[in-house]
Amino acid sequence: MQKVAAYILERTEDLQWPDARKAEGDRLRAVIEAWLKNKGASSVDGTGTYAAVDGSDASYQVTTVADGERSWRIFELSEVTPEGRKFVTSVSVTIGHKNVVVFVTMEVGSVATSITRIDVDPKCPKVVRDLLAQPGGWLHGASRLRGLSQVDGFDAGEALALEIQNKDRTIPFAVVSRVLGMTALPKLDEKLAHDLAGVANVYSIDEDASWALTDVLRKPLSTYGGAVRIYWPRLAGNDDPFRHQLWTATRLQSIDADPKTALERIRRQVRAIVMRASAASVVRPSEIDEIREAAARSEYAALQAKASALEDLKAKASSLAEFKDIADSYAAENDKLRHELAARDTELDQLRGEVKRLEADKQALIFQLGQAKAISEAAEVEPDAPEQDEADQPPTPGEVRFYKKTHSKPAYDVLVRVADCGHTAWRGAAKADKAKKGLARLLGDHREWKSLQHCGSCTGGGMWKVQW
Ligand SMILES: [Zn+2]
Repeated sequence: MQKVAAYILERTEDLQWPDARKAEGDRLRAVIEAWLKNKGASSVDGTGTYAAVDGSDASYQVTTVADGERSWRIFELSEVTPEGRKFVTSVSVTIGHKNVVVFVTMEVGSVATSITRIDVDPKCPKVVRDLLAQPGGWLHGASRLRGLSQVDGFDAGEALALEIQNKDRTIPFAVVSRVLGMTALPKLDEKLAHDLAGVANVYSIDEDASWALTDVLRKPLSTYGGAVRIYWPRLAGNDDPFRHQLWTATRLQSIDADPKTALERIRRQVRAIVMRASAASVVRPSEIDEIREAAARSEYAALQAKASALEDLKAKASSLAEFKDIADSYAAENDKLRHELAARDTELDQLRGEVKRLEADKQALIFQLGQAKAISEAAEVEPDAPEQDEADQPPTPGEVRFYKKTHSKPAYDVLVRVADCGHTAWRGAAKADKAKKGLARLLGDHREWKSLQHCGSCTGGGMWKVQW
């Protein structure tokens, strides 16, 4: 089986007390049970079958393991198509020492062995949406999971840029930029937020927010002009811009003449990239295995206690018939428990293997993310090359460039390179401290210009002419 997507949804707020954690766990399990029943399951315990929408052979299994106040319940749904393709969705709720965690995986495989290409287009399971819709905050590690966020204005954009840079961020952010209130493809921001619910946060940003991203992250790592970008966790200032896939508005609109077809293709592409990353890098909560191991240990202790109790009884047996009854029940009980324990041991070995495999997968992902070229080669809608920064394009002596102020910050002006405004009212500017600081910020090492002039005709913000 190949894992194609994984989700972690954590509840941590107001869960200091065991009773609160149990109540929350029960509430979430009820949401999953309702989903299962809605699929046609007759009961929400043990095993059973249901009618899959596509006529697949569908079955489910519900297992609960407890260790004192902690418990783990897993709902495993398995669907086998007439062609022998198998899909398994596992949803588990762990009531832990500190929190309540939902862990969801989607796997695909074949019933019979064959070497074939398996094309999958994983989509967010309805149960994940149902859980996210429950009141209260959801976390994935240090990051809060959010629905579509509208980010308007420079200050909001600056806050988003800082959140993108936050070293503790654990989920990807997809940023969709708007021009005059419009995304490059119809409702692209809403559609991506729908597709990526639970695995990535989606932000829809306006022009001013884009300027803030350019100011904080620099141009090669910014998103503007109707572009879409995925920002992966652990983004550093000197990060390779290719690591964070970017599709410009031009690229998005040239996918297909029909905007609806273009929209479907980019949605599928972004979904595939983010889901694949989740499958390889989301780590199974360790408390699941702690609970299972503790439960296995206490079962073993119970077996020993039972054995010694039976020994006591045997010693006290007054008749041969009584002794025989006790001996029989002892043997039967012993065999049953021994068998169960052996099964549990095998399961634990498999789990240990799984943890090792996940760790290897994670390493592979880190490598893969570094190899952005390989990713973009495999990509259906190839991402664009990020634009260069002003500082990466050294001006030549005598060269003239024009810059316009987009926003004023207390210490400096945020400037952007533009075309000549066409006016002829250029004036020397002795008092242009904020503009100079903004330019120096933009140009890095190439800040030694010959002249700096201000346009007297342009309205709405400063227009500057710089000559080297
Ligand atoms: Zn002008």
